[in-house]
Amino acid sequence: MSTADFLTNLFGKYYEDNFDRIISPSNLRKREFGFMFFKYGSIIRHLSFDDENQLKTFLAREAPSDVFYSAAYYIQPAMPKMPMKGWEGCDLIFDIDADHIETSCKNEHDRWKCQVCGKADKGIKPDKCPICGESKIEELKWLCDTCLDYAKLETIKIVEDFLIPDFGISKSEIGICFSGHRGYHIHVESEVVKKLNSQARREIIDYIKGGGIDPELHGLQEIGRKKLITGPDTNDKGWGGRITRNVIKFISKLQENEILMEDKSTRKKLLTLIKEKQNIINSLSRHPPLWDVMRNIDINFWFLIVERAINMAKGEIDEPVTADIHRLIRLPTSINGKTGFQVKPLKLNEIASFDPFSDSQIFEGQMTVHTSDVPTFRIGEETFGPFKDEKVELPLSAAVFLLCKGVAQILKT
Ligand SMILES: [Zn+2]
Ligand SMILES: [Zn+2]
Repeated sequence: MSTADFLTNLFGKYYEDNFDRIISPSNLRKREFGFMFFKYGSIIRHLSFDDENQLKTFLAREAPSDVFYSAAYYIQPAMPKMPMKGWEGCDLIFDIDADHIETSCKNEHDRWKCQVCGKADKGIKPDKCPICGESKIEELKWLCDTCLDYAKLETIKIVEDFLIPDFGISKSEIGICFSGHRGYHIHVESEVVKKLNSQARREIIDYIKGGGIDPELHGLQEIGRKKLITGPDTNDKGWGGRITRNVIKFISKLQENEILMEDKSTRKKLLTLIKEKQNIINSLSRHPPLWDVMRNIDINFWFLIVERAINMAKGEIDEPVTADIHRLIRLPTSINGKTGFQVKPLKLNEIASFDPFSDSQIFEGQMTVHTSDVPTFRIGEETFGPFKDEKVELPLSAAVFLLCKGVAQILKT
């Protein structure tokens, strides 16, 4: 049996056994569906279903490797060309993926190999091979607790710091799920967002990413002849309050050994912040706050600190996903064919304690596979690898993960 056949059978059985647990999206008949299969290379899309039962029967029978549906609602979702579908609106989607967040672990666990000269190395795939200069490079993107914890914190930040307080979206309109690979998805289903065009969605992205924020417009300025510095209050709505809260956070975390690379005058001022930490934090936390804290801390220095605070406060989202009003996204409760992990729907209060390496594992049993070069990974409480070219017996979820990642093969019988 080939690996593709094996995974197809296994995924089909999951969809059959979990027939009643598969979630179908709201307004099912208006959604376009797309599928990938272990046996074909490309996505098959422009499909639609009349009801839940038809969709689930399809999943159990065809056993796709990946299941996607449109965030958009169409009058005729199965029409082959976009303009023929009759766009009626689209949910607001955010994709928070470790791919877009800088984490040092990628240098440890990601791998690449030049398809031309065979040069291979650890770390993030270069654009061009450093040996032969070709750009045909195969990459292995791995995942670990560090990547997924970053993505999780970003997800919580976007929901709790932006969507709920600033955009007034209610919790009941927000759906969150683990993508089954390197991140999380947020689905906002609300009449308020449905009709937003791409440009409007880009404005939302800009807001969350803190693009082009002018602190002066949020009240950070010098007033009067004495040039007294004033600035936003921690309780101010939107970016104003967020700036002050994050300036406080920035100062409270600041350590002497972190400022060695700064230029001399900046370093001197940062040192003042560190020495007077508690005083300054107390001053900024007052209502109204006191920004005119020290003689040598002028407004230009505050602008510099605010810039760093904005960097801490902004949300990291994958822009094209949010801006695209025809996007296909993974169906919650389906399986991600890149890992064999479940695309797991999560309640807002579940996300903090959610463990993707345990809570989205769906296969039980043991299996022996033949591995190639495999970085360390964890499934449940157990850590596996690193493996070289060898035969290993693993829990089925771990074996399926390696098969999906293309770093193991089933044994020939
Ligand atoms: Zn090369
Ligand atoms: Zn990682």
